[in-house]
Amino acid sequence: MTARIAGRIGTIDRLGAVMASPTLIRLGAELAVEHRVGRRPVHPPYVMLQFAALARLARSAVRVELDLSNAATWTYARSVTIDAIRNHGLDVAPPGAVPPTWEQWRWFRDRTLSTDDGLGVLGREFPPLAVELARSIGQLASNGPGSLTHPDASRTVYGDGTIVRPIYQPPQAVRVHEADGSVTPRYPDPRTGRLLDHPAGRFDPDLAEHHGHLGPVLGHGYVAFHTRGAATYQRVVLGVDHIDAPGQEAACSLRLLADVARHARDGIQLVVYDGAFRGVHIDEVMRRHGYLVISKMPTSDGPDHALQAVRLGNGRMAKSYPLGLANHDTPTGACSHVLATINGRVVELDLDEGGDPVVVATPRRGPIKRSRRSDGRFHFNLGYDVQCPAGDFTVWLSPHGTAGNSARPENLRAVPDDDADSLRLRGLRSDAESFHANLKRTLLVDRAMSLGWRRGLLDIYAFALLNNAITESVAARGGTSTRGIRQGRR
Ligand SMILES: [Zn+2]
Repeated sequence: MTARIAGRIGTIDRLGAVMASPTLIRLGAELAVEHRVGRRPVHPPYVMLQFAALARLARSAVRVELDLSNAATWTYARSVTIDAIRNHGLDVAPPGAVPPTWEQWRWFRDRTLSTDDGLGVLGREFPPLAVELARSIGQLASNGPGSLTHPDASRTVYGDGTIVRPIYQPPQAVRVHEADGSVTPRYPDPRTGRLLDHPAGRFDPDLAEHHGHLGPVLGHGYVAFHTRGAATYQRVVLGVDHIDAPGQEAACSLRLLADVARHARDGIQLVVYDGAFRGVHIDEVMRRHGYLVISKMPTSDGPDHALQAVRLGNGRMAKSYPLGLANHDTPTGACSHVLATINGRVVELDLDEGGDPVVVATPRRGPIKRSRRSDGRFHFNLGYDVQCPAGDFTVWLSPHGTAGNSARPENLRAVPDDDADSLRLRGLRSDAESFHANLKRTLLVDRAMSLGWRRGLLDIYAFALLNNAITESVAARGGTSTRGIRQGRR
């Protein structure tokens, strides 16, 4: 095998991974089958999940029907599943003797999977199975390596949101002011220009206007959380969800994280997210789950009255957030040091000859401690070593906000952007972006073929099942590559 393909997983092995995935089969077993009178379905529900995952591999559900209609392919695929059922002692019926069809898939998708009930089962049952898979490859171990002071990559989860644009462009709409003062949308007929109550032609009724980095984007928003080992094919998708309204990415991610945390519990030390996680979200993750957060500090130039301009050692100016005084007793009496943060990091300030604040020191970050209150909420304390001619000392700072004010968690970051642990771990988040990019590559011309967010979410579940099945399959074979397994770990 040449170096170019060494350790890579080809299409047939990916098909085998999907058909052999015990996690996928167990998830399928949770989906109730509707028995139509006098007729049993040809295939148990997990076969439809296999079909969905293979559709992301083949980039087309119709293509899956075609591929599986080949007698040799179906004989192989079916035998792989039957072996997996036996080897893992799963209590499910074997796949039918004839290959599944696109019509069977469509029926199950529309009647079960993409309904609120079906998506509810996936939302409830996917995270615990994914956490179990993650643990089987050494991720999210409660007694694993790392500490809150220096979290380990194996106990880090990372997430991202993405917008999937639909293949059908949204209709042009105008707002019409009614006589009663209300405003209703009307749709100009593309040919006559006459205003219609409903758009002419095909469109997606669930579309929401999401404001992404590049301005308003019309599409469906989704979030996903992952964890990954250091070797190839060790990413585990832990959960996915639909962003129910524009601007709600962080709120949706917090809900999804709670679903994952319910099962992963102490297995997680750190959550990595992008700038969508602000102080209020960081504080919630710390207090509710006891996890630390790395999220990029926003580069806002707008006026923020909580921030004060200070001069750095190199003469440049920076915005600082005041933390107050750190006091300690010395042989000659009490001594005070003025502390503030810049870009999330603690600094010590003094006044220069002109009476203006200037950064004189950057206290070294020390231990991070966590305690749990009687109400179940967590509370963190961050240690910093302050240097003083009268004797160095450690000051403990709370990163939490006070009721209704999250300026402190926004500005005092337990693991700031330029911290060595942040530099070591924050790169994981780009893997979340690559997951979304690869998902979109399986959708026709980057657009969701599907109509509506439910079917879009189903596509993402299917892609997650494909990803996890490959991880599971590679792990079952003892991995493809041990290169780098110990890299990035402490
Ligand atoms: Zn002092």
